[in-house]
Order: sequence, then structure tokens, then C-alpha cells
Amino acid sequence: MNRCARLLVAAAVIAVATLPGLAAQAATPSPTPTPSKTRPTYRYTPPDLAGERKLAQAKAAQYMNGVAAKLGEPGIWVDPEVKSLDKTEIAELDRAAKAARVPIRIAVFPASEISISPSGTMSTYKTNLAWKGEEIADQLYDRVGVEGVYVVLTHARSETAGRGLHAVQRADKGPTYHVESAVDQAVDCCSPYYDEMLAKFIERAQQVDQPFYVDAAPYAGGVAGLVALWWGVTAFGARRVRRADEQRNLEVVRPVLNLEIIALSERIAARQVTAEPQQSKLLRDVLDTIEKARQRLDAAEGDSDTEAVATLLGSARYGLACLDAVRAGRPMPEPTPPCFFDPRHGPSTAETDWAPEGGSTRKVEICTTCAARVAARQEPAVMMVTVRNTPRPYWTLGEELGSYIDGYWSQGDGRRWRYPDDEVRRAGDRMRARWRARRPGARMTSFTDDVGDAFDGWVSTSGSSNNSGSSGSSRRRSYSSRTRSSGGGSSRRSSRRSGGSRGF
Ligand SMILES: [Zn+2]
Repeated sequence: MNRCARLLVAAAVIAVATLPGLAAQAATPSPTPTPSKTRPTYRYTPPDLAGERKLAQAKAAQYMNGVAAKLGEPGIWVDPEVKSLDKTEIAELDRAAKAARVPIRIAVFPASEISISPSGTMSTYKTNLAWKGEEIADQLYDRVGVEGVYVVLTHARSETAGRGLHAVQRADKGPTYHVESAVDQAVDCCSPYYDEMLAKFIERAQQVDQPFYVDAAPYAGGVAGLVALWWGVTAFGARRVRRADEQRNLEVVRPVLNLEIIALSERIAARQVTAEPQQSKLLRDVLDTIEKARQRLDAAEGDSDTEAVATLLGSARYGLACLDAVRAGRPMPEPTPPCFFDPRHGPSTAETDWAPEGGSTRKVEICTTCAARVAARQEPAVMMVTVRNTPRPYWTLGEELGSYIDGYWSQGDGRRWRYPDDEVRRAGDRMRARWRARRPGARMTSFTDDVGDAFDGWVSTSGSSNNSGSSGSSRRRSYSSRTRSSGGGSSRRSSRRSGGSRGF
């Protein structure tokens, strides 16, 4: 993969390089013998500095594409040309970056890879890089397309040769981290030792930059001021917790539902069109339902939307089961809860005994296919959902997929089927209780204890909202849409929270 990507990049660079090359050849001065004189004359062609610069810019952008491809996940990537960090140091920095409370991506590569100084420039001149300062880190962010902290260490023998540390935090929501001061501290304490610098950076860059009034609270205006402040921060915290939770859930559940809509649409497209009125009406209803689900998902902002989408999909699957029955000349089935092992299997038709890991045996409702597997003593085909690179049975994601399960187990008329796994219900209850507990009214009773909690809770929940960026599917989605071939600012950038750049 590594080599493959390199070859591609090399091929692209060659392709770009040959085009102007051909043009240059055509314009290259060739001795033009003039009949009147004995000496041949040469037409002077000035060096094409602008063209060379454009080429270098494109090459830098290409290189940055390759770097971004290595940093889909938080961590560090070091160009093999850079020998200032050894394997152990890289592994340790990688671990630290991955363990940070904010997603941190670090790239270390030779400044020459993104230099646009004309070749043959004397080394006493300052090297010009394709982008300046923080923009170097932003270029990486644009290509990876996930919110978080981005760091680029451009490696060179000196500051004039382009050596520097550049970093930025991009996120629309969530806390601000000390990224700017992390750059300063890293350079001040430890330059030019990359290992110590980056370790210092990681340590400092994950500290939440609290607004001034939190620190200043006790001095702000006596007890009255403190109460007002506490109330405001707590109410703010409650909304924030809920928003952060729902945002994180959305990152997990949206791609799952999106794939289901695509698969269902494909399944229907493969069906033969029928002129029989009852069948064509059923098919039209199913299509309408899927379209409604698609629109609702496109506009989804929280759990209530994704729950509605799941209910619609459950209903579409039931519609398909009815269609199959009518086609086969059977009566339409009664609505039943979805297959427990995988709601995508459609309505259940049978029951079986099942026990979760470490749990007691209970009856679960399953589809015909799963019933056949159970009868054949095969493992059930359980729906797995990958979160932070780990595939897990969907019911273990009680919080993230709570709205998905609630939606599928809803009958669409306010009634619900009972979900067989209590732990899932408890996870949902816990989440809702957490939202309630953070409302100011719920805290009035134990004021003194709560002042401290309000601040602590705020900081820790802020951290959790930042994890949302690491969801795999959203990364893929935004990677392709954000990848750009050339430099310049992106209109789709999240807001800059903190950032800095220092040569050393
Ligand atoms: Zn099934």
C-alpha cells in the first residue's frame, strides 16, 4: 500500500512534470542559422519561474495528500527520510497521541518536500514553503477532513531551511485546547530535539483552555455572582452534554442507517415491476417510506430524528414482507418486532432462547433465516457495528445505537415492542438521567457539592464531545469531499480554536 501510494504519487508528479516539459521543449532556443551572418544567433528564453513555482506547489500538494492518507487515525507519521526520531520514540509518541483526550495527528517530514524555492537557489536564501505557518497544519486538516488537532513538524537543518513546528485545532464545537501555547512551550523547552518537543506538545495540547470566568469565578462578585454563574454554567453544561451525546450518537448511527437505505433501495430496484394493483400499491408505499427515511436522515440533528428513520425502515421492511406474502398468495403477516440478531433481517417470525455474555437466558424473536441457522446449530448472524475500529454486536452500543433500537422496536403508533436486552434499556435510561441531572433545578438541593461538580463535569464532558471526530465512516465521507488538489483556504473548514507556528 505504502509503495503503491508512492508510485501513484510519483506517476502523477511525472505526468504533471512532462506536460510543461513538452511545452518548454518546443520553445527551447535552437540555433537558428541566419543566412546573412556567419555566426548563429540564439534567442534568449528567460527561466520560467512562475511555471516552476506552480509545479512545485502541485508537487507539495501531492505530497500532502500522501501524508493525509497515512493519518486517517490519530497518531504520528514520520517520513522515512527523517532520521531524527527512532522507532521507539515514534511508537511512544504515537501511543501518547492516540491516548490524548483530543484527536491529535502529527506529521514529520522534510521541509524540502513542500519547498517551492526555485531549484539552484543559493542555500543562504530562506527556503520558501508552499504554505506559511499554521496553514501547513490546516492543509493536512483539509485533506484528512476530521476535526481535531493537527501538527506538522517540517524537518530541515535550520530555521532558514524551513525547520518549524506548525499546529492548529479545528472544531466547530467542543472545548478549546492550548494548541498555541503548546507550540511555544515545545519549541522553548526542547528544540531542536523532536522527541522531547512533540512529547511536550502532546502533553500541553490536550489541556482544556477554560474560559477566563471559570478561573475567576470565586472572585467575580461574592455569593450572588457565584450562584448566577453556577446556574448559567450548569444550564449551559446540561445542553452541552446532551448536544455532545447526541452528536456522538449521530456519528455512529448515521452511517449505519445510510447503508440500510442504500441496500433497501437496491433491493427494491431489483424487483420486477408489477401491474397487479395491490402489489404495485404496496411497492409504492414502501418506496415512499424509504424516501421519507432518506430525507429525515439527511436533515437529522439528534436522537429523535434517527429514531424516526429506524421506525420508517422497520415499516418499509414490514411492507416488503407483506409484498412477498401477497405475491405468494399468502395472507399479509401481522406486524412483529424485527429480528433480534439483526434488525436488517426484517420482521421476526420465530422465537429462540438466547443469553448475552454473562447474562441469563431469555426468549428473543428472530427471522426465518436466523431460525434456520439456530435449528442447524450455527452461530447467529449478529449485526456488528464498528466504533473506534472495534466491531461489536449492535446491542452492546446501548447509548450510541439507543435511538436506532428504540426506532426499530417502535410500532409507529406510540406503542413499543419490548426489547429483550435489559442492559440496552438501562444504557438509554442512564443517558437520559445524565441529561436530566445536569439541569439546574435538579442540582438546587445540594448546592455546595454541586458547584465543584458543575465545573468538573463541564470539563470532562467537553472532552467526550471531541471523541466524535474519530468515527470511521464520517472520516471516509469527509475525506473524499474535502480532498483538494491545490493549496488555499477551504470554505468548509471548521472554526479555528487555537493554533500556532514557530521556526526553530
Ligand atoms: Zn435474523
